[in-house]
Amino acid sequence: MNPKAEAETSGIATGAAARHVSLNERLIFEQSAPGKRGMDLPPLDVPAVDPAAVLGREFMREAVEGFPEVSEIEVLRHFTRLSTWNYAIDLGMYPLGSCTMKYNPRVNEHVARLDGLVNEHPLQPGELAQGCLRILHDLEQSLVAITGMDAATLEPAAGAHGEMTGLLMIRACLESRGNPRKKVLIPDSAHGTNPASAVMAGYEVQNIPSNTRGHVDKDRLRQAVTEDVAALMLTNPNTLGIFEDHVAEIAGILHERGALLYMDGANMNAFAGIARPGDFGVDVMHLNLHKTFSTPHGGGGPGSGPVLVKKILEPFLPVPVVVRKEGGRFVLEHNRPQSIGRVRAYCGNFGVLLRALAYILAYGPGIRQATEDAVLNANYIRKHLEGHFDLPYDLPTLHEVVFSDARQKPQGINTMDIAKRLIDYGFHPYTTAFPLIVPGALMIEPTESESKQECDRFIQAMRAIAAETETNPELVKTAPHSTRIGRLDEVTAARKPILRWKP
Ligand SMILES: *Cc1c(COP(=O)(O)O)cnc(C)c1O
Repeated sequence: MNPKAEAETSGIATGAAARHVSLNERLIFEQSAPGKRGMDLPPLDVPAVDPAAVLGREFMREAVEGFPEVSEIEVLRHFTRLSTWNYAIDLGMYPLGSCTMKYNPRVNEHVARLDGLVNEHPLQPGELAQGCLRILHDLEQSLVAITGMDAATLEPAAGAHGEMTGLLMIRACLESRGNPRKKVLIPDSAHGTNPASAVMAGYEVQNIPSNTRGHVDKDRLRQAVTEDVAALMLTNPNTLGIFEDHVAEIAGILHERGALLYMDGANMNAFAGIARPGDFGVDVMHLNLHKTFSTPHGGGGPGSGPVLVKKILEPFLPVPVVVRKEGGRFVLEHNRPQSIGRVRAYCGNFGVLLRALAYILAYGPGIRQATEDAVLNANYIRKHLEGHFDLPYDLPTLHEVVFSDARQKPQGINTMDIAKRLIDYGFHPYTTAFPLIVPGALMIEPTESESKQECDRFIQAMRAIAAETETNPELVKTAPHSTRIGRLDEVTAARKPILRWKP
């Protein structure tokens, strides 16, 4: 066997592929050798019994075929190495627009690991869970104060889940007035989850075009709001990072005809601590705790998408509702005849809710400054990349900025190529090709977590790539060059994923 082939079969990558991460880690199954163990148990000091006799044969499993036999250090190294393959917010800037990939402060983790909290059981009787119920209640009250709404549910496990919960409450409310109505209006700049949630709640979706300023077109809206319309789902600021400055008027147009205003609050990092949706006519909204309130995004979860409502929707909140009784005792109230029912087990993702409350209490009024810094960082980046990338909507932006690849297009380079090249400069890519109303979008959201120095490094990298598209377009088109694996065939990866290990 030649040395290169030998190195590869032994799991050591060679050449350029080895630069980013030095080891081409094999599956744990492939590292197995018969008889290796992680630990030795001491000899039994009680009489041995036949497990089949005690448990019953039906509960016994045959030998697990191909179960990996590895030592403790092999397990540890395997997972430690795998962890270095991930790009993470703890490693560097994560400018993924619309996702608010901010730092997860360690105080959150400290609080979440306190003995009295990690050892609680979700089914513990109320009188033994007063502390946990108070945490839920305090978080609800904090979110109510920040948003200017009247009441909250913490059950939904993601933003999209919150959207569906909110829409089901709208449906229940309108139904109680005699007619659930048929349609939900959604601007063309909305997040893809909005139309999906509306359909799941049994509504037809009608698109509302944006005007040239990236705002909802009020005249079109006025025409569209008929007796059939249940609600408008408005993302504010929208996915261009632009605030709907006529939002109170929009709410008025809906309310006049008995429709409700749903606000997608995933972008609250743009104005938390500065303005309150409850003050400008919003009836129901969700927040993404894994965005604005610094809880981890995780590998697709667990997230949390609390829904906040005005008084008119309060009777329809999911059960159970945390209620504070006289004397300060907390109870979980299940008997709510108009409730839409449960949307999640227990009271939502408690560990995530806890981290969000830790963040809010640690920052206090400082939440306003976090917002201001997030907006400042986005505008700083915008100013320094103007002239290098096309800016399709030239309006003041808040916490994120959307460029397009129009200037790079003539060299045959698109937003995906630029994003892939950014990996070679040590950054996670920004959001590509979203929002859909900007063809070839580059959506950048630095968040308040980044220092000026880190923003400057990002700007330098982006400018360098813009220069490369002129001088060496091939380099950009074929990026990334520094990773274990180069450009993936994304279509094949999506259509024919290999998800199972076969011995
Ligand atoms: C992230 C996001 C959502 C969906 O939230 P999930 O927690 O991912 O389900 C909805 N709307 C907007 C504007 C978002 O940015």
